Amino acid sequence: MRRVISDAELATLSRDAGIYAIAPARAYVAGSEEEVAQAVREAAASGLAVTPRGGGTSIPSQSVGRGAILVQSRSAIRVGEGLVYCEPGVVKADLNRALSLQGAWMPVDPSSYASCTVGGMVANNSSGARTLKYGSTVDFLAGARVVFADGSVGALGPVAVEEALSGDGRTRRAASLVVENWRDILDEAPRVAKNSSGYRLEKALRDGTFDLQRLFAGSEGTLGVVTEATLMTVPRPRWRALFVAESALQDLDATVGAFRCLAPSALEVVDKSVFRETGRWERVSRLSRSDDPFMVFCELDGSEGEAEDRVAEAAGAVGGLEPLVMTDEGDIAAAWASRNETLTAAREMKRGGRTPVPGVEDLVAPRERLGDLVRLLVDQFEKRGLEYILYGHAGDANLHARPLIDLGGQAGMKTNEELMEECFEGVWKMGGSMTGEHGDGMLRARFVRRQYPRTYHLMEELKETFDPKWAMNPMVKIARP
Ligand SMILES: Cc1cc2nc3c(=O)[nH]c(=O)nc-3n(C[C@H](O)[C@H](O)[C@H](O)COP(=O)(O)OP(=O)(O)OC[C@H]3O[C@@H](n4cnc5c(N)ncnc54)[C@H](O)[C@@H]3O)c2cc1C
Repeated sequence: MRRVISDAELATLSRDAGIYAIAPARAYVAGSEEEVAQAVREAAASGLAVTPRGGGTSIPSQSVGRGAILVQSRSAIRVGEGLVYCEPGVVKADLNRALSLQGAWMPVDPSSYASCTVGGMVANNSSGARTLKYGSTVDFLAGARVVFADGSVGALGPVAVEEALSGDGRTRRAASLVVENWRDILDEAPRVAKNSSGYRLEKALRDGTFDLQRLFAGSEGTLGVVTEATLMTVPRPRWRALFVAESALQDLDATVGAFRCLAPSALEVVDKSVFRETGRWERVSRLSRSDDPFMVFCELDGSEGEAEDRVAEAAGAVGGLEPLVMTDEGDIAAAWASRNETLTAAREMKRGGRTPVPGVEDLVAPRERLGDLVRLLVDQFEKRGLEYILYGHAGDANLHARPLIDLGGQAGMKTNEELMEECFEGVWKMGGSMTGEHGDGMLRARFVRRQYPRTYHLMEELKETFDPKWAMNPMVKIARP
């Protein structure tokens, strides 16, 4: 195990893609599961909390902390039949390459796929453009190995509910929490296609099994350290086509609605202003044919022999939108590369001290309420006279909206705080969640109790079960009582 001592490395580990910079007391790079356990025990003996870390791309401040940062260098991939075994340091782009050699795919691709790791994806329950058709990371997590807060090691996977209820202490307690409160859990779960807020209690039971590994999906390093993940894979689609239409703000809901009828694999909205403002217009210029501020990407995919008919039928069905239709794989890949650059580009936007800030950047509503979600956000920004960018996973009603605010002073902090209050209240009234894929982090931890008024106490009990001393990422996700 390597102790990180260089100032430059420690400085890198004091930041992720969030707004807080926090200098860690210590950092470890572990090269084996045993070294992870050793680091967890050593940090505990020094009274330090542990923050597991992957690529450090998380947005609401999850992979920074005052205690010990724990990075894992292991990145082996073993491909099996319908499954892939990944060490936590595997970068998603490398996993894609390894699987494509076998014609297989794990379809969750965050836009950060070139640098985010499997460990971070599991811990954030990450999603991507194709979650619309295929699901989020939690839906692909078949098993995991974990180092718990006390340094012990466990293998997690589905077990019969009866067996879980008579299993070891931690499993039994977690299973009873879920089984005894199942009705409340289902009643309170947001009515959304994707969610990364709170612990995903409603995902823990299915078809007579208790899936403890699914409670670790989205746990943001607060329950233990994932040292291996077993992910399900699907066959790669044999073809894809991309339709791109343009839209004014007031027509966005209707444009997305028209495309939704095609049963797409992805349905995204892209804000052209991000590219114009950051000198990257050439990245999208070939896709843009009007002054409308938004582009809507609609991807279809499928199996052998059906491409021509599906594309022709779809083009007829949405002809009124006058979409650009792409079937060449090179053109499609280039268009997606531009879409995936949106946040990287947005982070370069500046108006004096004002920059696009996170807080309400990941709201998700029930799919049919996309129009209400757009109105909520735009009303909130406009009544404060804020410029904003707005893009994201429109098909899942999961929008990445960022207002431009100067967070350097009290006034900007107060505005961001008020926005979070009012937008979260608004999205909760719709049956939505304050985060679809980025997680709660430090930024939103204090709001989780209000999203889950009836089941938050179960989340606290789950935390106590796996981490009774609150040593694992303690400022994140669940605010310490
Ligand atoms: C430009 C950009 C685009 C993005 N696009 C998307 C997107 O499309 N979809 C999406 O879902 N997210 C997106 N994100 C957010 C982020 O990239 C993802 O959540 C990503 O999966 C995080 O992976 P990471 O390896 O960087 O994790 P980190 O940021 O290092 O960590 C994330 C969380 O996981 C925990 N963690 C890390 N490794 C482990 C482990 N081994 N065991 C236990 N806990 C662990 C950390 O403590 C932290 O709480 C984007 C971020 C950026 C900057």
